[in-house]
Amino acid sequence: MKKKSVRFETEVIHAGYDSSFHQGSLVPPLYQTSTFTFTTAEQGEKRFAGLEDGYIYSRLGNPTVKILEERVAALENGEAALAFSSGMAAVSAVLFTLTKTGDHILCSPGVYGCTFGFLQLLKEKYEISHDFSQMDSVETLEKEILPNTACIYIETPINPTMKLVDLQMVAKVAKEKGIPVVVDNTFCSPYLQNPISFGCDIVIHSATKYIGGHGDVIAGLVVGNKEFINRVARTTQKDIGGIISPFDAWLLLRGLKTLPVRMDRHSENASQLFQFLKKHPKVDSIYYPGDPDHADYQIMKKQMKQPGGLLSFSIKGTKQTAQRFMNQLKLIKVAVSLGDAETLIQHPATMTHAVVPEEERRNMGFDDTLLRLSVGLEAWEDLKDDLEQALEKI
Ligand SMILES: *Cc1c(COP(=O)(O)O)cnc(C)c1O
Repeated sequence: MKKKSVRFETEVIHAGYDSSFHQGSLVPPLYQTSTFTFTTAEQGEKRFAGLEDGYIYSRLGNPTVKILEERVAALENGEAALAFSSGMAAVSAVLFTLTKTGDHILCSPGVYGCTFGFLQLLKEKYEISHDFSQMDSVETLEKEILPNTACIYIETPINPTMKLVDLQMVAKVAKEKGIPVVVDNTFCSPYLQNPISFGCDIVIHSATKYIGGHGDVIAGLVVGNKEFINRVARTTQKDIGGIISPFDAWLLLRGLKTLPVRMDRHSENASQLFQFLKKHPKVDSIYYPGDPDHADYQIMKKQMKQPGGLLSFSIKGTKQTAQRFMNQLKLIKVAVSLGDAETLIQHPATMTHAVVPEEERRNMGFDDTLLRLSVGLEAWEDLKDDLEQALEKI
C-alpha cells in the first residue's frame, strides 16, 4: 500500500496528471487516436520489444486512459489500474486471468446479476466451479475454501439486500492460504471504502456508476499490484480487447473531480429517505447499511466512511403492489443502474436479478416486493414528497 502525499479530495482532481507534459492544458487532453507514429522503424521495434516506453496503439495504451488509470490507482491505494469498456469487461478479465479449468471461486452471498451469469458461463464452458458463502465468520470461511479455490470474490454492500462482508476478516483468512481476494467496490466508490487498505488484493469498479456519476458512460476499472495489472493488460485485456475509449476515459476524469462532493450528498439524501421510509406503515422492511438495527451496522462503521446512496425496501403487498407503486412515481425514474444525479428505482426480481433463479433470490433474502432506490442529488424533501404521494396511492 502506498503512502498518500495529499488527501482524497485533492487526489480526485490532481493525481496522475502533470500539465507541463501537455502544453500546460489545465484539463487532461483527449487523445482521440487509434494509433501512434514512430519516428523511425527502429523506434517501433524497440517499443514492441518493450525496450522503450511509449505508445503503440490505443488497445495497448492511450495517454488519456493512462491518466485515469493512475488517478484511480491512487484513490484506491493500489499500485496500478486498468480501464475497461464496461464493468463486466473488468469482471470477466479479472476472473479469466485468475482461473483455469478445474478451479473454484468462492463468492459472497450475492453478486451482480451479470457476474452471476458470467460465473455460470465459466462453469458450463470451462468447468470452473463456484459457491456462495455467507462469509460471516472465520470458521465458515475456512470450511468453504477448497484446495482448488483460485480466488475469493466479494461484493459489499451486496445488491440488493445491502448485506455487508467484513473485508479485513476475509482478507486475513485468504492471506494465510495465499488466495487473492477480489472486491467489486462499485456500490461504495473509492470515496467510501478502500478494500486494499483492509488487505484485499484486487478492486473492481463499474465506473458507469458513482465514478462517472452522470449516467453518460459505460466503463469499468480494475486496481491491483503492478504485477497483476501488467498480467491483465498483456493477456486478457490485450487479446480479448474490452478497452475503454479515450473519450469515455476523459468523461470519467471529469466525473471523478466531484466524487467526494457527490458522495456526501448521496449519503445525506439516502439517510433522510431512510428515516422517512423506516417509519412508513406501508413499508414492510428496509435494508440500509446506515440503519443502527441493520445486522451489519458494526461492519459498516469499521470499513465504510458513510453508509452510501443506496437503499432497498419492500412494500406490504404483492409484486403487483410494488409495480403499482413504481408507476405512481413522478420525479423518481424507473431505471436500473445507480450512482447518477437522478434518483432511480428498480425492481430486482424482474430487472437486475431476473436471471437469478427464484430460489436463489430467496436464499439471498428478497422477494417480489423488494425495490431498490439509488438516491440521487436532488433536494431530499422533493424525493420524500414523491415517495409519499406514491405510497398514498397504493
Ligand atoms: C453495474 C454493475 C456491474 C457491471 O458494470 P457495467 O458497467 O454495467 O458493465 C458490476 N458490478 C456491480 C456491483 C454493478 O452495479
